[in-house]
Amino acid sequence: MRTLPNRQLSRYFDRYNVLEGTAMPMQARQLNWINVKDYLDKEPRYIELCQQLDLVIMDMQSWLKHEKDITETITLAISSGYRCLEWERIRKRTGQSQHCIGAAVDVYPVSSFLSQNNLISVVSHLYNKYQKVWPGGFAVKQPSYDSSGKLKNIGFLHFDSRPVKVRWQY
Ligand SMILES: [Zn+2]
Repeated sequence: MRTLPNRQLSRYFDRYNVLEGTAMPMQARQLNWINVKDYLDKEPRYIELCQQLDLVIMDMQSWLKHEKDITETITLAISSGYRCLEWERIRKRTGQSQHCIGAAVDVYPVSSFLSQNNLISVVSHLYNKYQKVWPGGFAVKQPSYDSSGKLKNIGFLHFDSRPVKVRWQY
């Protein structure tokens, strides 16, 4: 299914991370590979975005160290990066998402050492900081809980590289 070798796009992200987000269904990944030419046109924008996200990761690490005294390894994983138009149409979406027409990633913090509560506070720190300073599109999905109050999902952050500041919540 993979028709191109992997390549590093920035310090923390590579091409496969952007094409095969961890929350992308198999069919979406396969369609991304079928439409990989369109992705390649946009790869320079993804390189820029991933380089900006490297800085977000470094900021997150330094915040944890200084505010929480935590020095464990933590990074951001991409749950959804590039999405081809064919997939968006199957999902009955407009195809106007920055995930298809520009460069966008949904990310969430991952660490094998940190508790879920610590990961949630990382999401909340990143949200509070980047909603003020991120130059393009930025959104948050807050953590979700089931009816018994048990954590279902720690949430995620959407970052994109459009030339205007836009904010929303999921
Ligand atoms: Zn998104």
